[in-house]
Amino acid sequence: MSFFRSENGPFVVAGPCSAETKEQVLETAAALKSLSISLFRAGVWKPRTRPGSFEGNGVQALEWLREVRDLYKLAIAIEVAEPAHVDLALKHGIDVLWLGARTTVNPFQVQQLAESLRGVNIPVMIKNPVTPDVDLWEGAIERMERAGITDIAAIHRGFSSYHASSQYRNQPNWVIPIELKRRRPDLVIICDPSHITGKRDLVPEVSQKAMDMGFEGLMIETHPSPDDAWSDAPQQVTPGALGHILSQLVIREQYTADMTWSSELEYLRQLMDSVDAEIVDLLARRMELSERMGGVKKECNMTVYNPDRWREIVENRSAQASRLNLPPDFVLALYEKIHHESIKKQLQILEGNDKEVKD
Ligand code: PEP
Ligand code: MN
Repeated sequence: MSFFRSENGPFVVAGPCSAETKEQVLETAAALKSLSISLFRAGVWKPRTRPGSFEGNGVQALEWLREVRDLYKLAIAIEVAEPAHVDLALKHGIDVLWLGARTTVNPFQVQQLAESLRGVNIPVMIKNPVTPDVDLWEGAIERMERAGITDIAAIHRGFSSYHASSQYRNQPNWVIPIELKRRRPDLVIICDPSHITGKRDLVPEVSQKAMDMGFEGLMIETHPSPDDAWSDAPQQVTPGALGHILSQLVIREQYTADMTWSSELEYLRQLMDSVDAEIVDLLARRMELSERMGGVKKECNMTVYNPDRWREIVENRSAQASRLNLPPDFVLALYEKIHHESIKKQLQILEGNDKEVKD
């Protein structure tokens, strides 16, 4: 049984971004104890974007966390980024370790941490890498598994991107954790709405969204006076606010015991299967046409790509999408993929069938 599975409701990890002072850590823990959280978090070595910011209290903070553990009987998690951090964490009886997003992105660093954990079977949480790369995330999990770690949870904390207009600090890209779950249904996935949103007002809605998607846990940064926090001040919530967020969550099930609704859903799924089969069939027919067009273009020495024709396709398909109440952006994104594949096929024909055209 995984440490990260909770019987009733989500597995909740809460606590400050950083362990700032002994008083702050103890005050937060005292307030969180009554919320029956599953795990207390606090950063003791902080990866900061720029030098000169508060970089954590290191070993002395580990002493404070030991006190939290003894006094409030809470399991403790910290971030580790170097083998030396692992040694110190283990020496101080830390219960759970996590790899931060800036660590998961680097396979050398992940491998070093995995080596330092060989022979120590402790629960480990692995945040997604800062880049939206599901293979890199899964790869980090595999490195830990090969070192003998058997109890792993993945944390979805969003992905860096240069979107000046985005309302979020890190883009959720929900398709990535969903793909990880498809590949690894055994893994518990914990959503970190604090680092996704970067703003405390948006934490409740993203927490609910994670529950709607079927994620099993939440990591929410909690501080007794968030505005005074030494790191990530705008996104931390008070323990009281956390209690409110948790009490408002609607928890959903993957299945229903109600026979009427489950057979209705089964019926709709069968209809959807047959529509999907038609879609794939149509794609194959479209590709066949594309191949024949490639033959004509080769015969007549014409270019594969024709900007006027592409413009016409874009306008026509977007207009049709709007008429059918489909977001034109969505249909356009699909057509970009279809068109790209079609061009690839025609280039192959023009350049000789045996050559695979690289993207
Ligand atoms: C954190 O949890 O405080 C942290 C540094 O997170 P991330 O690795 O997701 O940026
Ligand atoms: Mn933080």
